[in-house]
Order: sequence, then structure tokens, then C-alpha cells
Amino acid sequence: MAESKKETIVMFPFMGQGHIIPFLALSLQLEQRGFNIIFVNTPLNIKKLRQSIPPSSAIRLRELPFHSSDHPGLPPSAENFDALPYPLVIKFLQASKSLQPHFRSLLDDLVRGGDPLLAVVGDIFFGWSAEVANELGLFHVVFSGCGGFGFACYYSTWLNLPHLKTDSPEFSLPDFPEAGKFHVTQLAASYLAADGNDPWSIFQRENLSAWSKSNGVLFNSISELDKNGLGYFRRKLNRPVWAIGPVILPVQVRSGKQPTISPEKCVEWLDSKPPNSVLYISFGSMNTISASQMMQLAKALEQILNVNFIWVVRPPLGFDITADFKAEEWLPEGFTEKVVKTQNRGIIVSQWAPQLEILSHESVGAFLTHCGWNSVLESLSQGVPIIGWPLAAEQFFNAKFLVEEVGVCLEVARGSSFEVRCDDIVEKIEKVMKGDSVKGMEMRKRAGEVKEVIRNAIRSDDELKGSSVKAMDDFLDAALLMKEKTKSVGQ
Ligand code: UDP
Repeated sequence: MAESKKETIVMFPFMGQGHIIPFLALSLQLEQRGFNIIFVNTPLNIKKLRQSIPPSSAIRLRELPFHSSDHPGLPPSAENFDALPYPLVIKFLQASKSLQPHFRSLLDDLVRGGDPLLAVVGDIFFGWSAEVANELGLFHVVFSGCGGFGFACYYSTWLNLPHLKTDSPEFSLPDFPEAGKFHVTQLAASYLAADGNDPWSIFQRENLSAWSKSNGVLFNSISELDKNGLGYFRRKLNRPVWAIGPVILPVQVRSGKQPTISPEKCVEWLDSKPPNSVLYISFGSMNTISASQMMQLAKALEQILNVNFIWVVRPPLGFDITADFKAEEWLPEGFTEKVVKTQNRGIIVSQWAPQLEILSHESVGAFLTHCGWNSVLESLSQGVPIIGWPLAAEQFFNAKFLVEEVGVCLEVARGSSFEVRCDDIVEKIEKVMKGDSVKGMEMRKRAGEVKEVIRNAIRSDDELKGSSVKAMDDFLDAALLMKEKTKSVGQ
């Protein structure tokens, strides 16, 4: 492949940790392939990124102005949707459209300044960035940090709102029958409140339709594992779809958030535990569970004496999730004293854990996760089976995919209003983690196979080049080809 050393790729993620992380990881990969990277975001996110980009990287950071005070209802200086209460998320998505003219003039300046722009990589929520790139004759791709299956369900559900067309709690997707049956409990709150003319439906319809102006879609996924979902987009968009995953941030690079516990301390504690004995629990960068669910989960952990745990806690639903965690209020009386201190069976991490270091440790036997796609990829690439507790967005669909298509997940609960019982949580955790559980053995075996599939997909040696590496080559070739064609037309 004829890669030029001088070509520049513009990366433009949505303002949220779960979006910035895969974009940064992809930027570092593209930089390694010899491309110049310009990473675009709002000032506060860029400031955080400045501290996280490794000194060896020459990624250029560019700020776009964003004033949340211009958007009624948003808290002052909100530049990231991670800490926003749920009703404000849609306002933030709508407000992000105000970046459009600034993004256009940034690209315009770069073109005029003679920067050799090869491609613009826009976020799933910045569908409009395709049109902006088109106007300037630039190659544009959407980079989905979500998986093919999960996002296909998300996309199709927004475009069709199938649950509104039936009285049954079950429904299927008219343009994605391969996905099988869904239950209304697998729908995020925004779908349940939708009527087709509400702000979410309008935003999603407009945004997703704008994808059709893009030259293709990159998925942070693996073609061998995600055939149905990727096939859906090939069919639907009639555009190339490249599965280039897993694109994961290396452990030594932090994306703006520093762990609140040192990785060394975590590893030292994990070293002291038997293989597969630790359950890692985290609900991602922006979700939390309800106070009663938290209590039931803690009671379950208290009961399962032979399971150790690392639990990333945030204040429960209804409280400011960035505030300090009050163990004495939100966990059973004496929990920290007994389980954490005396029994030394667990670590409670308030806010942010070094997730990849934890998942890559052999003592970790399962991951209780909200099924955010980055977390899923991080778990699967380490061969760690999943206990699913989806909470929002396409996480319910990811859980369905992991249970039905991949066979590495057991669902424990759905959503933050689901009534969970301690006994049920105990049963499910034991099913996955107990050494002699048939289900657990099957899941561990399958997770090991999936780890191997992933390892093969990212092999870069010429004779055995993996599918994800080939897909990345194909994407870059398509971008270079378009640039050549544009040049020859202009001559
Ligand atoms: N993460 C982390 N420490 C934490 C919580 C999350 O490093 O305590 C990272 C995690 O490794 C993943 C990302 O944050 O890369 C979360 O992304 P995901 O797609 O799983 O969920 P989201 O936050 O978007 O809901």
C-alpha cells in the first residue's frame, strides 16, 4: 500500500470519555502508520488530552469553541456528557450541532493552509460532519466506537421505532430480522419515551440519515465475530464498512482521567489472589445503578465468600455521580470494615480504575459490566467472560449480542430500575465464576477462543495479516484513491 508520510487525518470524536478513548487509540495507530493526526474537540477536553498524549506522539490538538451557557438548560462549562444527568444528555447532543460552523472553518483553514488532508474521521453523533467534508471535497468516514450488532439495533430501532407498532412487549426489527426477538426491557429510556416527534427521535433521524453522505464506516469491531451487524450496515448504507477493531488505548496512555487507585497497588493485590477468583465490576464512565441495586449487589458480594472483587463505585442514581462516595450510606453497614478490611476480599475504587491493567491480570475471572463497547472489547481481548448489566444506549443490544451471538455473557440485570435480588445476583455470579460450574467452564472456554480470534484479527505480519489490519489498509487505500482522483480531476 502506498502510504504517504505527509498525509493528515482529522479526528473528531463526540465529547464523552467513551468516544474520545477509541478515537485517541485510533489516532495513535494511524500515527504509527506514518500519518499526521489533528485531533479536534472542545477546550476543556483538549486541555485534559494535553496531559494524556504520550510525549512520543506528535498529534496536533485543535480547539473548537463551545459555550454551554448559549444552550438553555445546560450547566455552565458542560463540555462532556459523562457527568450530565440523563434528561440533559439530549440537550447536550442538540447543542453539539453548534460546533458545525467552527468545524467547517477549521477544515477550510487547513485546506487553505496547504495541509495535505487525506480524511476526516467523524463521530457517530456528528453525522453532519460528512456534509461539511463533502463540501470541501474531503474523504469522510464515520468511526463507530460501538460494535456492528449493537449499533445496527440502535440505528434500526431509532429509524423504525418498532416497539410503538405493537401491543406485545416483544418486537423484532423490520430491516434486521437476523437480530431475532427483542423485549421492551431491552430498550433504553429514550426509546420508551419516544413518539417519533420527540427531541431524541428528531435528533437521531437527522443524525443517522446524514451518515449516508459519508464515504464509509469504520467499526471498532472484528469481522469474524460481528458478521450480522456489519452486514446490516453494508446493506443499509451501500457503502464500504471496515471492521478495524479492537482499537484499544495502550495501558500506559490515559485519556484524560487518572485512576483514583494506582495500577501498581491494584496489580499487587491481584497478585495475591488465586487465578480466576476476582470479579471486576464497573459501569463505565457515565453510568451508575440505583441505591437499592447497589445495596443488593454489595450484599451478594458479602455472601459469596470465595469470590474476590474490585468494584468501581460512583454515587447511586439521583446523586451527583462525580461526588465523593459515601460507603456508610450506600453500602450495607460494616461492609467496608468486614469484607474489604478484615477479609481482604475486595477493593472499592471510587470513580476511576486502571481497567485494562485489571482485566489483563490472570486473577480476574469475570467482568460485571454495563456492556459499554470499549469495556466489552477490553474484556474479550483478554479472554475474560462477561456478566452483563446493561444500563443505557446500545448496551442492551451489546448484551444480547454477547449472549446470543458470541456466547461469552450471562445477563444479571437490565437497567437502573430493574428490581434485582441479592440471591439472584449470587446465583448468576456463582454460575460464571465457580470452578466446577458447567456454564462457567463453557463461557471461559468460549472467551479463550474469542481472545484467539481477536489476536489473529490484529496480526500484522504479511503472510498472516489479520482481517482488522487488512480492513485498515483498505480504508486508507480508499482515502488515497479518492485523493488521487480529486487531484487528477483538478489538473
Ligand atoms: N474506564 C476506566 N476506568 C474506569 C471506568 C472506565 O479506565 O473506572 C474506561 C474503560 O476502560 C473504557 C471506557 O472507560 O475504555 C468506558 O467506555 P465504555 O464504552 O465501556 O463505556 P461508556 O463509558 O462509554 O459508557
